[in-house]
Amino acid sequence: MGKKRLLLGLNLLSVIFLSVILYLVWKISYLGLSEIHSGLPNVLGMIFAALSLGSVGLILLLCLAVKGITPIFFEKQIYFLMNVLFPVSRKIGKLFGVSRRKLEGSFIAISNVIFSRHRFKATGRDLLVITPHCLQLASCPRKITRDPNNCKRCGGCNIGDLMNMADEFGFTFFVATGGTLARQIIVEKRPKIVLAIACERDLMSGIQDVYPLPAVGILNIRPNGPCYNTKVDLDEVRNAINDIVSDDDSAKHH
Ligand code: SF4
Repeated sequence: MGKKRLLLGLNLLSVIFLSVILYLVWKISYLGLSEIHSGLPNVLGMIFAALSLGSVGLILLLCLAVKGITPIFFEKQIYFLMNVLFPVSRKIGKLFGVSRRKLEGSFIAISNVIFSRHRFKATGRDLLVITPHCLQLASCPRKITRDPNNCKRCGGCNIGDLMNMADEFGFTFFVATGGTLARQIIVEKRPKIVLAIACERDLMSGIQDVYPLPAVGILNIRPNGPCYNTKVDLDEVRNAINDIVSDDDSAKHH
């Protein structure tokens, strides 16, 4: 819960901060509004109060869902709110020395919990596994972004391992050089579920981009710094795929 608590806490602080601002705006505009119409301050006050309380309510609902106490309600509205609050949460987080990367990591952890609560299932064929180009060994001459089948599976990087897994489970595997290409392949292949491997920033934007298509995110490992000869924990990928692909379906591919 620790990782998830970070963004949940900052989202709550952001709502409190924005509510104070709304209250001040209301206070300052009170006299001017009452000159236009005596009922106007009350109407605006009620709208602002509804916005603040509604936002607190959505975050509390998310906390309950993340803790597994309730199913997730108002999911679309919650994602919208988290998106709106993210820049404010980032600024507040900065005051406490929280990096953007940590916040994005927290978003992915929350999103993954929500994903697993839904218990989405798909056949291997309906699953798209997508990775960034930096997972490929930088010195490898094989052109795998057009077609990952060009990989020789030499063991030099995790692309070959993921190709083997694609054969085993029957999912579509794609190496994208950017968000545009990733979106294109999603439109073309029409998967029911996406499993994306990437860094915090790309995963956060990618998961939001494909919403409401269910997407689970796995963070890449960057022993050589960002965007260069990255890796992925294959056990983590396998576990995530096992949770998605039904037993009957994976058995067909053994
Ligand atoms: S496994 Fe080998 S052939 Fe395939 S992409 Fe990596 S380095 Fe290239």
